Amino acid sequence: MTFEETTGSTLTPEAQVALDRATDSAHRHHDLLSDRAFHIKQSAVRDVFDISIQPGLISLAGGSPYLQSLPLDGLADTAADIIRNHGLEALQYGPGQGLQELRELACEVMAAEGILDADPSDIVITTGSQSAQDVAAKVFCNPGDVVLCEDPTYVGALNAFEAYEVDLQPVPMDSDGLIPEALEERIRALKDAGKRIKFLYTIPSFNNPSGITLAAERRSAVVRICRENNILVLEDNPYGMLRFDGEPLVPLRADHPEDVLYLGSFSKIFAPGLRLGWALVPKHLFRRFYLACEAVVLCPSPLTQMITAAYLRDFDWMGRVRASRTFYAERCAAMLRALDEQMPDGVSWTVPDGGFFIWVSLPEGTDTYPLLTEAIEAGVVFIPGAAFTPDDAPSAQLRLAFSAVSPEEIAEGVRRLAPVIRRAVEA
Ligand code: PMP
Repeated sequence: MTFEETTGSTLTPEAQVALDRATDSAHRHHDLLSDRAFHIKQSAVRDVFDISIQPGLISLAGGSPYLQSLPLDGLADTAADIIRNHGLEALQYGPGQGLQELRELACEVMAAEGILDADPSDIVITTGSQSAQDVAAKVFCNPGDVVLCEDPTYVGALNAFEAYEVDLQPVPMDSDGLIPEALEERIRALKDAGKRIKFLYTIPSFNNPSGITLAAERRSAVVRICRENNILVLEDNPYGMLRFDGEPLVPLRADHPEDVLYLGSFSKIFAPGLRLGWALVPKHLFRRFYLACEAVVLCPSPLTQMITAAYLRDFDWMGRVRASRTFYAERCAAMLRALDEQMPDGVSWTVPDGGFFIWVSLPEGTDTYPLLTEAIEAGVVFIPGAAFTPDDAPSAQLRLAFSAVSPEEIAEGVRRLAPVIRRAVEA
């Protein structure tokens, strides 16, 4: 089955929006839809995710965490105990800010990464970092306001921000992450053009999709530039703990409590299915941010919070994180080895120190989106680079995820992908 057959689409994302508008206009109530509704796009990652479930396909697309090492029997007992003995609390509405115990435990997680001064009263428990991205755009942005981001950046954040009709401005990275001079230059140009810049959305450690990390020596420069220009930093750090060797790099938030709104997630250090993360919010912004979170969910699920708190309190969560670093490092090494062996000249890729992803670059001028159909026919899926830029412009890059596949599948997946890429490079 081809990509088009599966998604029903041969269109570029822009053409898809135009088609959606035209199709919807034939339906009742179309005139009731907000402009915003048309800015919420179908995610290319979800499309490919759906295809990946087909038997026989090797998915190098989805960045799912490895869950096989979870202590499932122990967690089942914990969940049963919570419902049996604390059910009336677990199944009742809870505090809008989240449970005090989980906020305290989130502080312990952050301390392990180098944020030593977090105060549980500055934390809101979120329905995953994804929901906090939506709240950030809602709280800070009017239509037309600028949000700066890395080029490339996380597709889910792009989708969340675009719903608020913001002007997304990608800033170039090199192998050490965001380039401070380029950031400064972009800010100057935007200000000269009369634009209002609200925040920089950044994934400093093991960026999704590129795997690139902002070098330690650039970290305070990035925050300083934003502070001097009255721009908030929205730091998204779901992968920081998953550094293959050595201690995690200290997050931007550590030394800049007033300038950085920090997003944490339990998805990669525990389990994404519980849908929990947290936001550590500068005190002067806390009330607005918290009220917006509460307006969406009333309160995060007490049941999943209690399970997560019990996991962090009673199980060796750090031991499992340490083991998962080795697990991901081995898979990353297997993918790098396969790329070295299989890819033709003219193709390059990033060499990440952690996280889930490798970013592969074909010669400039190639478009990786149409290659997906051929790749699926060959039995492998990836995410085309266009998904990770705001304008969906053709991209010569693609994202490969090594987090949820065995070294054998990685080798076979790259072997299937190689001829597709070779043909594109030689075309
Ligand atoms: N931010 C980034 C950079 C991600 O890669 C992801 C998920 N892949 C998220 C946020 C979403 O995290 P959560 O499960 O906490 O909503």
